Amino acid sequence: MVKKDDGAKSRAHPETEVVHLGRAPFDNHGFVNPPVYRGSTVLFPTLERIRSREQPYTYGRRATPTTQALEKAISELEGGAMTILTSSGLAAVTTAFLAFVQAGDHVLITDSVYQPTRAFADRLLTRIGVEAQYYDPTIGAGISALIRPNTSVIFVESPGSQTFEMQDIPAIAEVARAHDIWLLADNTWASPLFCQPLKLGADVSIQAATKYIVGHADAMLGAVTVTSDAARYIDRAKEALGTCPGSEETFLGLRGLRTLDVRLARHQSSALDIAQWLAARPEVARVIHPALGSHPGHAIWKRDFSGSSGLFAVVLNAIDDTKLAAFLDGLKYFGMGYSWGGYESLVIPFDPTSYRTATRWQAEGPALRFHIGLENVDDLKADIADGFARMKSA
Ligand SMILES: *Cc1c(COP(=O)(O)O)cnc(C)c1O
Repeated sequence: MVKKDDGAKSRAHPETEVVHLGRAPFDNHGFVNPPVYRGSTVLFPTLERIRSREQPYTYGRRATPTTQALEKAISELEGGAMTILTSSGLAAVTTAFLAFVQAGDHVLITDSVYQPTRAFADRLLTRIGVEAQYYDPTIGAGISALIRPNTSVIFVESPGSQTFEMQDIPAIAEVARAHDIWLLADNTWASPLFCQPLKLGADVSIQAATKYIVGHADAMLGAVTVTSDAARYIDRAKEALGTCPGSEETFLGLRGLRTLDVRLARHQSSALDIAQWLAARPEVARVIHPALGSHPGHAIWKRDFSGSSGLFAVVLNAIDDTKLAAFLDGLKYFGMGYSWGGYESLVIPFDPTSYRTATRWQAEGPALRFHIGLENVDDLKADIADGFARMKSA
């Protein structure tokens, strides 16, 4: 846990901040990067020091200079008062929920939420007496009709997992504030560079840092950033639950952060290029990308986000599984796998019909989620075009 520096330092541009935040070279003999502190036990030199509770580090689970460096950087980027790190993005989600709920509560969760978040709510929250209700992600201010006296949390994720619905976070925040409800936002798609939910009225912003912050598909890491009002709740939950990241993973988060801006710029431009190219292909029924004018939530994206990342969806025209397999199985550069946010391109088929409850997913044919990596965009298009050719002849 680290509090944001007091005093109004003038803020640099984000690309400057990701390079400089969380580093103090001359505290470390001039080395550019902070060392990786590995440790559980932290020694106290005297009895007085133990009793005074003033030693900055007391136990590895609580904080190390390495975790504090990344927490401080993410806090600044998200515009929050405090950040905690967790062992994964999902642990960030579950820690954030558990910080704000108690038995008898009701929580509202977007129907477009990351599926493991839904599984946590359905399997664990309900078991401890917290009722989860799902709502249409495009509900906006209409969410006020779903508020009950015992509603304690509203959870948003914009754009939604797999299907990319945009949510009107400021409108939902206004309702949440009027009813003293905590507003939690999963901000993984945008990263803190393209959206800062706390500035849109959320109390909590969650990052699966596994994705763009780590950025190289080589570590699991989560972060929860909160306003000063929410700080003591999240700090208590972190302490009680004992969640903490590994030292190496934290370092990989710090390392990834330094290039977040340049990576995202490339993910953004290549994804937009390929999304537009796909939209014109005869095999494609529609492309779902919030930064395209054709997206129903485009105006919200334009108002609340400063960029778009490499992740979007495509609905193909109806084809059978043989053709779909012919397309997917022979791809050269697009790997098939879960997660995303690394430097490499990925594609995965999805179908949310089996678990959505508040909305109905309707699609012309199979749906694919693409993550556009840092490869040359023409090589990626050629890979997809070859796939379409295989699909046709299968
Ligand atoms: C991947 C993801 C998570 C979970 O992150 P892990 O690090 O894989 O646990 C949470 N939310 C969203 C939106 C994600 O994409």
